[in-house]
Amino acid sequence: MRFVNAGGRAGLLVDDMVYDVNELSGDAIPYWPMEALVAHWEAIVNLHEVGAFTGGTPLDQVHLGPPVPRPSSVFAIGVNYRGHAAETGADIRPIPAVFTKFPSSINGPYDDVVLPRGEGTTDWEAELAFVMGDTGRNIGAKQALGALRGFMCAQDISERFVQMAASRQFSLGKSYDTFCPLGPALVTLDELPDPLSLRISCRVNGEVMQDSSTSDMVVDVPHLVELLSSVMTLRPGDVCLTGTPAGVGVARRPPVFLKPGDVVETEIEGVGVLRNRCVAED
Ligand code: ZN
Repeated sequence: MRFVNAGGRAGLLVDDMVYDVNELSGDAIPYWPMEALVAHWEAIVNLHEVGAFTGGTPLDQVHLGPPVPRPSSVFAIGVNYRGHAAETGADIRPIPAVFTKFPSSINGPYDDVVLPRGEGTTDWEAELAFVMGDTGRNIGAKQALGALRGFMCAQDISERFVQMAASRQFSLGKSYDTFCPLGPALVTLDELPDPLSLRISCRVNGEVMQDSSTSDMVVDVPHLVELLSSVMTLRPGDVCLTGTPAGVGVARRPPVFLKPGDVVETEIEGVGVLRNRCVAED
């Protein structure tokens, strides 16, 4: 199933039509918190299986917001693709770097990314994001996929000067407003036969900058769930961006950074495409 945030309301996406989850269920389901969606999950699944949909709206007539607009946590993983480790000269460590993108940075799948004033070193990072479905602590890797609600495309927009030079901690340079486009839909696992081997790519103005597979990850999704949940209780709706493959702008010679007017497309096989235009800060 594919869930979208249709103008702030939970929508089920079927064949380019969006069906309002509230109307489908005959019940008032606030889109958030995620717990409400989880509580009605069985009813939604049943409706989906029956295929009894009426009163949908064509997808191109709705404004899609981020499928998970207000998670309690947004984790991100540093240097988690072998190709990206090689291009940056970073060590692959036994425990990967975990940082946060503050939830205020979340952005819609087709909304503008605002480039901050300053150094002009804003960069792209195409990433697969997973979304928790269950509350859990100490979730073993074998049980991990079953604890997820699904996957989204994510773009880990990064201001490199602030990330690297102004701070020893990544989170600040990763958390400007609009720096975390998510979506276009939350795609459940039944639509992704092998989430550990999906093509992932990033295009800037149509030019392919990143083109890899999630199979290049150093720590795969089940082991990331195991790692995070060994430290903290994960909650429904928590989001984790799982690292980016080779091809970021800062690792190019000479480096390439985003400019106002650039269009960043983030595509993951079976999950979808984000399309975000860069604009200058007012
Ligand atoms: Zn990243």
